[in-house]
Amino acid sequence: MNNTSDPIASQPLIAADEPGPADVILADGSSPLFLICDHASCAVPRSLSALGLPDDERRRHIGWDIGAAEVSRLLSAQLDATLVMQNYSRLVIDCNRPPQVADSIAQCSDGVVIPGNASVNIADAEQRRRAIFEPYHAAITAQLDAREARGQHSVLIAVHSFTPVWQGKARPWHVGMLYHHDARLALALGAALEREPGTVVGYNEPYDVSDESDYSIPVHGEQRGLLHVELEIRQDLIANEAGQQYWAALLARLLPSLMTFP
Ligand SMILES: [Zn+2]
Repeated sequence: MNNTSDPIASQPLIAADEPGPADVILADGSSPLFLICDHASCAVPRSLSALGLPDDERRRHIGWDIGAAEVSRLLSAQLDATLVMQNYSRLVIDCNRPPQVADSIAQCSDGVVIPGNASVNIADAEQRRRAIFEPYHAAITAQLDAREARGQHSVLIAVHSFTPVWQGKARPWHVGMLYHHDARLALALGAALEREPGTVVGYNEPYDVSDESDYSIPVHGEQRGLLHVELEIRQDLIANEAGQQYWAALLARLLPSLMTFP
């Protein structure tokens, strides 16, 4: 990006009047719970011309985690818990993938070709990483560092949602507890949710966590030694306000008693 005579190369990815890469809500939250929402938004910076996708495609599950932002906001408010949200579509750059993996900037998702990602070169990918991925994770790191410095415990909850049908198959779980090296909170919350009548809990369903497919839990949870879980809630259950309220209230009721510290 040293060719300043080239107006394209010097154009910022995110314009001054657009949202920044991340929002921190309740930075001084008193709860040990620390919420993150990697796939909160389906927005695309204007400079990327909607990635060549029609609005209805971008607003499907391929663009974001439907309902996850609303559940996260409600849970944050109910528990006075800090929440860090990512403000752009995972199709711009997936903030829960290591930037070096192919899926970081998806060429295709659930059978839909993403035109704006077809010709992304190294410089384009680097611009997206610097403008969105890095500042989002830096915001999480700064919050966690500040909490540690003031002696406040942090329990990391990554809130996601999943599409109810994938490649023609209905997914039976209402909620998935995802984990890799540290299952403590995933198993405890899963057991508490299973005691709720009619709730179908999956463990490492519909996905699991790995260092190749995930970034947030390995880096901010495992590497820091924080109690953590990646939550996946089925999108049809949190597509409307009543469902979002139900799941936020349920999690707000169950989570506080599960937080233990060495
Ligand atoms: Zn997600």
